[in-house]
Amino acid sequence: MGDDGGRTAAQGLALPWADGAFPPATVSGRRAAWEALMGLALHEASHALASDDVPVGALVVDADGRLVGLGRNRREETGDPTAHAEVLALRQAAATRGEWRLTGCTLVVTLEPCVMCAGALLSARVRRLVLGAWDPKAGATGSVWDLVRDQRANHAVEVVGGVREDECGAILRDFFDTRR
Ligand SMILES: [Zn+2]
Repeated sequence: MGDDGGRTAAQGLALPWADGAFPPATVSGRRAAWEALMGLALHEASHALASDDVPVGALVVDADGRLVGLGRNRREETGDPTAHAEVLALRQAAATRGEWRLTGCTLVVTLEPCVMCAGALLSARVRRLVLGAWDPKAGATGSVWDLVRDQRANHAVEVVGGVREDECGAILRDFFDTRR
């Protein structure tokens, strides 16, 4: 943090990429970056367990790779049906940036977004979606529907799927297994 503390904080936590080096130019470099970010999303997902919420975590980084939004599923905690991880991360990112357009941003989430969250990604003009586990029952970014790459929409989102898929699926399976 510099001597402009408040401004720096509002611009988000700096992640360990060199200036101008996000996303990395090589395929292996990008994969490593998505895996590192997914680790943060998985950590956020684990906090949902305290309120008995389904453990899904999400974050938003801007075009320079700075963290600008973080969220986890809080439906049980808040009683809000729209309190999905992605929506909360997008809201925080918009607040951090001071505008609703999240142009150039990447949303990272442990589970493939639902219809509502896929719509929110389009509404926010997010550039890229990085997801962990696919959701063959309700996924709306490639599984059941593909809203973010529908040519009828006025915006398209690049989708990177299956990042740390096993871990992202395991935290959900463990959650549901203990509730049988
Ligand atoms: Zn959702």
